[in-house]
Amino acid sequence: MSSYSIETKCVQSGYTPKNGEPRVLPIVQSTTFKYASTEQMGRLFDLAESGYFYTRLANPTNDSVAAKICDLEGGVAAMLTSSGQSASFYAIFNLCSSGDHVVSSSSVYGGTYNLFAVTMKRMGIDFTFVSPHASAEELNAAFRPETKAVFGETIANPALSVLDIEKFAHAAHEHGVPLIIDNTFATPINCRPFEWGADVVIHSTTKYMDGHATNVGGCIVDGGRFDWDSHAEKFPGLTSPDDSYHGVTYTKQFGSAAFIMKAMAQLMRDLGSIQAPMNSFLLNMGLETLHLRVPRHCENALKVAKFLADDSRISWVRYPGLTEDSEYALAQKYLPNGSCGVLSFGVKGGRDAAVRFMDSLKLAAIVTHVADCRTCVLHPASHTHRQMNDEELQNAGVTPDLIRFSVGIEGSADIIADIDQALSAI
Ligand SMILES: *Cc1c(COP(=O)(O)O)cnc(C)c1O
Repeated sequence: MSSYSIETKCVQSGYTPKNGEPRVLPIVQSTTFKYASTEQMGRLFDLAESGYFYTRLANPTNDSVAAKICDLEGGVAAMLTSSGQSASFYAIFNLCSSGDHVVSSSSVYGGTYNLFAVTMKRMGIDFTFVSPHASAEELNAAFRPETKAVFGETIANPALSVLDIEKFAHAAHEHGVPLIIDNTFATPINCRPFEWGADVVIHSTTKYMDGHATNVGGCIVDGGRFDWDSHAEKFPGLTSPDDSYHGVTYTKQFGSAAFIMKAMAQLMRDLGSIQAPMNSFLLNMGLETLHLRVPRHCENALKVAKFLADDSRISWVRYPGLTEDSEYALAQKYLPNGSCGVLSFGVKGGRDAAVRFMDSLKLAAIVTHVADCRTCVLHPASHTHRQMNDEELQNAGVTPDLIRFSVGIEGSADIIADIDQALSAI
């Protein structure tokens, strides 16, 4: 499908039925697959022949959906995971062991920050967090001899900073390591990080890709361009025999798909965070309209952001699509067709006014989610950060008045009218 437009890929990539087969991607709801001979099953285990034998390692429904996301991003291989969290974990753990180090943007999803700074640190993997706007010198200073990867988010959740992907890719490659990008908020409709030098892309498919808030999931896509063998001493897991898998050397046997094949054969085998085929079927339904929904999210969000920017009841607005926003220049470069549907703002009157605003909304729902088709809203000071007092909130970069607003694909006039009446109710 690689010569088709991204719109056609959203609808049709990943599954091409043969004569008489179902037109719609079938849900292969089977843990296992039958073979006629012991010998053939043995070859499958050796990875000498490709074929399905156990859904934890591979499943036809999951593979079709992974192939679609791979095609959308312009990668060479992809694997679905049970959540965005497991995609982030696998992407790093596929390269790092105890004693290794990663340079990460400090502006990342809270769950990712916790995974890196607390849980993976307990596993002996150390992270240095740098500003997404770090200079080349600041970036270079963060590297160590044991650094194995660089990590960042195209558009950070919830900070909404835009990463200078080319700058981060350059720094990573100067130090002989890959750049891993979490492209959840931008989606491949608005940005394809491989085109800017990224080596691995991950997603929480829970957000825009599913788009309907029906299933938690993740995906890892391999860009296939990082030359592991030229940095063999840094990546022995990819470039030397894997004793746990019949002595296979991933770069020798799988070439440019080595990264994903190792993640599947080793990490998915041992850790098992596979996506359920039923969920990947639902994810595929979402992907079929991704190219229609994402532009509408952006269009609506820009209208809401402009309304808020002109309203005297608002103290500040953050949206990369606003010309006065600090991220506007980077957004123009990396996201010329639109950024995302999420914005944040503060209401005059601080925490109490924010709570009254939230409680007065009728169309926008208070939920712990972002980036689905229904407009939703979260007040970090009352929800995700509720244990903190105002001073602690300021230190965490979350102001007491901050409202995170995820603009859906309803009529923009209705969304704005809802905000307007809730502001009047304060
Ligand atoms: C939600 C999110 C994640 C975590 O994904 P889950 O599917 O909730 O596990 C990771 N990165 C970003 C940018 C997210 O928004």
